[in-house]
Amino acid sequence: MNVDEEDRAIAAKRAKARRYAAEPERMTLREFRVTMRSEHAERDISFSDGNWSCTCDFYAARNTCSHVMALQDMLFDNLGLRRP
Ligand SMILES: [Zn+2]
Repeated sequence: MNVDEEDRAIAAKRAKARRYAAEPERMTLREFRVTMRSEHAERDISFSDGNWSCTCDFYAARNTCSHVMALQDMLFDNLGLRRP
């Protein structure tokens, strides 16, 4: 594969990637981990094996919290990923 062929191959992959990125419903969340700076502290939020988790006290007491809700809103409502 010469350089021109490789450049065409990469350009084709970029075009395909743009099409995929415009169709977020193709993607299903399987695993996820993020650190969020909340108003009071840094929180570790994760999703694995179908379960959300957060290190904040509210999550420990109620099994949900504003940090998990915010990420769910971002991933599913804003970006359009399929809910697992
Ligand atoms: Zn939390």
